[in-house]
Amino acid sequence: MAELVHVSSHPLVRDKVTRLRDGTTKPKEFRELVADLARLLFVEASADLALRPITVTTPLALSLGHELAERVGLFPILRAGLGMANAILELVPSAHVWHLGLYRDDVSLEPVEYYNKLPDSVDLDVAIVLDPMLATGGSATVVVEILKKRRISRIKFIGLIAAPEGVERMRREFPDVPLYLAALDSHLNEIGYIVPGLGDAGDRQFAT
Ligand code: URA
Repeated sequence: MAELVHVSSHPLVRDKVTRLRDGTTKPKEFRELVADLARLLFVEASADLALRPITVTTPLALSLGHELAERVGLFPILRAGLGMANAILELVPSAHVWHLGLYRDDVSLEPVEYYNKLPDSVDLDVAIVLDPMLATGGSATVVVEILKKRRISRIKFIGLIAAPEGVERMRREFPDVPLYLAALDSHLNEIGYIVPGLGDAGDRQFAT
């Protein structure tokens, strides 16, 4: 299973995730870093997308090339996943975006669904779940369950920072879903925050 947990070793990712963690990084720079990291991780996560050949005409001649042949769905978990989806949309403007709203109950730490407009059937080839923090794995597993109920079989997860607890839960419950991460941290604290982590990813993006 270990080969399905991709922790990027790209120097740009390592540089940016360090600046993201820094408690003195202001929301504007934080949002830019989230966007950059989401795009860098998406490049890694999308390396297996199928292409079909097309021909275009340059100012000089015909040129054989390729276009994406797969329908990509982005599933940002509200609200922290929003910045990731917007950034990836710039790389794949044809992607479909479905927002899923989940919050973590403060006591049980379990996810509570509050927004889901997904139809019963979604026509996609690959679904990419986006959440900056893979902490307990509660939200990610609920979203993957929602997608599997709609018979979406190719699902990937992109997160910025993960705790071992979240990674283990995803591996146990959905061993077929690859994880693309910028960093894998030490542990969760008693209130479910990733340590060392970066704090609350939503608050830090949106200055709340
Ligand atoms: N969500 C966050 O925003 N941060 C954490 O550390 C864990 C969950």
